[in-house]
Amino acid sequence: MEYYSTNGTTPNVSLHTAVVKGLAADRGLFMPERIPLLPTAFFKNIGQLSLQEISYAVANVLFGDDMESDVLKDIVYDTLNFDIPLKYIGDNKYSLELFHGPTLAFKDVGARFMARLLGYFNKIEGREEEMVNVLVATSGDTGSAVANGFLGVPGVRVFVLYPHDKVSLIQESQFTTLGQNITAIEVNGTFDDCQALVKNAFMDEELNGHMMLTSANSINVARFLPQMFYYFYAYSQLVKREQDTSNVVVAVPSGNFGNITAGLIAKRMGLPIKRFIAANNSNDVFFDYLKTGKYEPRPSITTIANAMDVGDPSNFARILDLYCNSHDAICADISGCTYSDEQIGETMVETYKSTGYILDPHGAVAYRSLLEGLQPEETGIFLETAHPAKFKDTVEPIIGAPVEIPAKLAAFMKGEKNTVQMNSGFTSFKKYLMKL
Ligand SMILES: *Cc1c(COP(=O)(O)O)cnc(C)c1O
Repeated sequence: MEYYSTNGTTPNVSLHTAVVKGLAADRGLFMPERIPLLPTAFFKNIGQLSLQEISYAVANVLFGDDMESDVLKDIVYDTLNFDIPLKYIGDNKYSLELFHGPTLAFKDVGARFMARLLGYFNKIEGREEEMVNVLVATSGDTGSAVANGFLGVPGVRVFVLYPHDKVSLIQESQFTTLGQNITAIEVNGTFDDCQALVKNAFMDEELNGHMMLTSANSINVARFLPQMFYYFYAYSQLVKREQDTSNVVVAVPSGNFGNITAGLIAKRMGLPIKRFIAANNSNDVFFDYLKTGKYEPRPSITTIANAMDVGDPSNFARILDLYCNSHDAICADISGCTYSDEQIGETMVETYKSTGYILDPHGAVAYRSLLEGLQPEETGIFLETAHPAKFKDTVEPIIGAPVEIPAKLAAFMKGEKNTVQMNSGFTSFKKYLMKL
């Protein structure tokens, strides 16, 4: 299948090109040229299928033309070698726990898939000699998922840029202790400085002539599309438990809107989800857009659900494209909400007291939207996008109880930290890369 640019002024490209380039030449985002409908039989049997089987079936209609089926199957099965359980919380509400992967956040799914796909493309091109260099700026979750996803993938080197002293020890240990093909660059500056270094690197002609550079954020189709898999799997788990699955509502904690956009495409492929809720913290430009029809990006503000602190969500262009720019059509499928830090904390406390379930701050935003907006005949699923232990320093004082650190996370913290120190000027970063 080919991919077109949402800006529509460049020719379509192959999956391979879309993955390596990340962004289209006209600065648009890549979208699949067709969104295939899955057969009714698939949905009839979906309750009997495993996560890997469902994911492979979905992957096949999207990526099946681009590689041999056993290759695709291996990539999918290897990506999803952990479970994504749907847990009943109470009152028609379920948590889709996306935190059982290696770095305990949903970004593992897309990052692992992209890494394996890029590794495969390198191999068939005989490119293992010429390294692909992935640059990623992070304030936490993205860096750890990408670094772990690409760990040991032949022909790929990853550089994680993060702000010195601004990432918690738990988060940091997940990308500074890995070694092998992963380099952590500790920048004496802010997250914005890290992002600026990456952007400058992509725009520098001399540097791009010297080495092949690519990005691994949710703009990349190979990171964003695989997130569709678990929406289907959530539905399959629901089918096993509920008589009536005709009124399913899915609430998604949203920042750059990659996760929810994957869900919207799943719906377009036939997944019977009645409606979506885009749950925002105080960074709520999308919520404003739903109310007014006007999209007005603004600088982000810091909240306790910081992976959603985004003032200009990059996947908004994909949503507009998917709904042919119709505000009415978008509002028919998606509603919004916005909660302050105080409200997020309140929800975490209340939920812990009444059910014993520990929400992370991001999942809490989505769960609250179900508490407030779910109708009696509806069944709600919220995406629990990260394990609460990843935000231990925030969660413990709020709920007033200890959060146990899973063994997987504790293991990272035992490793030895290894970083390259860098100031925030582009000259020294470029010099460093040119020497490689
Ligand atoms: C990245 C992230 C989000 C936001 O996801 P988007 O796809 O950017 O909307 C939400 N929660 C957590 C824990 C995250 O790491």
